[in-house]
Amino acid sequence: MSLAQRLARPELLDLPPFDLGERHGGYGADTIKLDANENPYPPLSGGDLAAGLNRYPEPQPAALRAAMASLYGVAPEQLLLTRGGDDAIDLLCRTFLRGREDAVAVCLPTFSAYAHFARLQGARVIEARLDDRFDFTADLLLAAVAGEPALKLAFICSPNNPTGNEVDPTEILKAADAMPDTILLVDEAYLEFSATPSLVDEAVRRPNLLVLKTLSKAFGLAGARVGGLVGPAETLDVISRALPPYPLPTLSIEAALQALQPSRRAVHQRRIDRILAERARLAPLLQQSPLVNRIHVGGGNFLFLEVESPEVLAKRLVELGIKVRFRSNAAPGGVRLTIGTPEENDAALDAFEVGQQSRPARRAELARDTRETRIAVAVDLDRAEPRRIATGVPYYDHMLDQLAAHGNFSLVLSCDGDTEIDAHHTVEDCTIALGQALKSALADKRGIGRFGFALPMDETQAQVLIDLSGRPYSRFEGAFAASHIGDYPTEMTPHVFRSFADSLGAAIHVKVDGENDHHKVEACFKAFGRALRQAVAREGSPDALPSTKGLL
Ligand SMILES: *Cc1c(COP(=O)(O)O)cnc(C)c1O
Repeated sequence: MSLAQRLARPELLDLPPFDLGERHGGYGADTIKLDANENPYPPLSGGDLAAGLNRYPEPQPAALRAAMASLYGVAPEQLLLTRGGDDAIDLLCRTFLRGREDAVAVCLPTFSAYAHFARLQGARVIEARLDDRFDFTADLLLAAVAGEPALKLAFICSPNNPTGNEVDPTEILKAADAMPDTILLVDEAYLEFSATPSLVDEAVRRPNLLVLKTLSKAFGLAGARVGGLVGPAETLDVISRALPPYPLPTLSIEAALQALQPSRRAVHQRRIDRILAERARLAPLLQQSPLVNRIHVGGGNFLFLEVESPEVLAKRLVELGIKVRFRSNAAPGGVRLTIGTPEENDAALDAFEVGQQSRPARRAELARDTRETRIAVAVDLDRAEPRRIATGVPYYDHMLDQLAAHGNFSLVLSCDGDTEIDAHHTVEDCTIALGQALKSALADKRGIGRFGFALPMDETQAQVLIDLSGRPYSRFEGAFAASHIGDYPTEMTPHVFRSFADSLGAAIHVKVDGENDHHKVEACFKAFGRALRQAVAREGSPDALPSTKGLL
C-alpha cells in the first residue's frame, strides 16, 4: 500500500471512481454524440467563444496537461490539473483529513487557505511559527509537531505569502526526511519570481512531497483558475478521486493553452523580468518613506512592509484609489504591496510620500495570431535592452536586431510561423506586428520629430527618410540580384518597408544602391533604425507636438 493510500480517508478509497474514461473515450468530429445529455447546439454567445461550449470538457485535458508538464519539466501523469491552486489545497484536505481525528501543520505567518480548508474538513491546525525574520527551518516545524500521531499534511509556502521569504530547499527536504508519514505540500505559487530552484524533481520521486503550481501569478491567468499538483503518479491517482468530474472549464483550458504557446514565452519572461526590476526599484524608495519602518524584499511579485501607522496609510491609499492588503496578523503594521505596472507603482510611491516625477512610458505589447503565424511582441522606446528576437527566419532576426539596436529600443519578438512553407508569412506578419507595437508605444506622439538617415556600408549606401505623420506612404528605390539571403526572400524587402509604413502610420522613403545584397538589405534596416531613433527621441518640451497642426 502506498503512503497516499495509507493516509487517505477510507471512504474515499472505497468509492468507485467516476466512469469518465469510457464516457470520454476518444470521439472524432463525426461521432454522433448522444451519450452525455449535452445540448446539440452551441450557446448563443456568438463568436469563437461559443465553439464547443455545449460539450463537457475533458476531465484532465491532455493538451493542457502536456503543456504544463513540459513547462515544469515533469511527465504528464506527474501533474494533476486543478481549478487553481486554492482548489488543489482543498482537494488535498478532502482526500486526507478526517474530521476531529487528523491534523495539519502550517508555518505562520503564511497563506490563510491551508488552515481554512483544513478546518472546513474538521481537522486540527498545528501552528508552527517562522523565526523572527520569517525564515523557515525544518527544526521549527519538527518541534511544533513532535509527538503528534495523526499529522497528515504540512504546508510550506516557497516563497512565502505574505512575507516573501524564499525557503531553502534543503530545509524542506530535511523536514520531509524526518516526517515520512506526513505529506508535505510545497506551495510554489510565486516561484517564477524567485531565484530558488523548484522541488518538482524531488516531489516526483518521493511519496511524501507534493508541489503546488498555478498559472494565476506568473502567467497572469488568475481569472481562468488553472493550477495543479506535481508528484508521483500513484499519489495523484489517489488524490484525483476527490476531484469533481469536470474541474476545468473549456474557456479556461483554451486561455491557458494560448498563454503557454511557444510564441508567447519570451514576452511572458519579459513581463516577469519587468516585475522583478520594479520590485528592485521600489524597495529602496519605500525604505525611505516616513511611513515605513521595515521592508522585506522576498521572492514574490510583492513586497512586505511594516508601516508606522496603517490608519494614516489607509487614508492616503483611499484618496488615491489604491488597494493593498493589510496583514496585521503577520506583523504589526504589516502590509503586502503587489508589484503592478510602472505607472501603478508610481502611484503607490506617491501614497508612501516618496513619489517621483516620471515621464509617461512608451511601451507596448501585443499578440497577433493568424492561421499562418502566432506572434507576440513587446517594445519599449525608452530602454535599449533587452533585444530578444526569434522569428524563425534567422536572417530576419538579424535584421530586426539591427533595427532595434540602431533604433535604440528594446524589442522582444517571437513568432511561431509556417516557415516550413516559406518565410513570406512570417516576415510579413512580424513586420506588421512590430509596426503596430511601435505605433501604440508612440501613443499620441508628443515629443517626437521627423527624420532621416543615410549610411554607407562598404560599397553600399542606404538612405531612409521617415515622417511619423499618421499617413502611410512608402517609396522604395533599389533592386536586388539574389533571390534569397539564407531563408530570407530578398524581394520581401520593399514589401517589409511598405508594411512598416502601413502598420506604423508613417511615410517611409528608402533608397539603396551597392553590389552585395546582404549589405544592401542590412544597410536599409540600420538606416531605418537610425532614422527611427531620431524620430522617436524625446526632445524639447514633453508636450510639444512636432507639427503646426497640433495633431499627427
Ligand atoms: C495565489 C496563491 C495560490 C493559488 O492561487 P490560485 O489562483 O488559486 O491558483 C496558492 N498559494 C499561494 C501562497 C498563493 O498566494
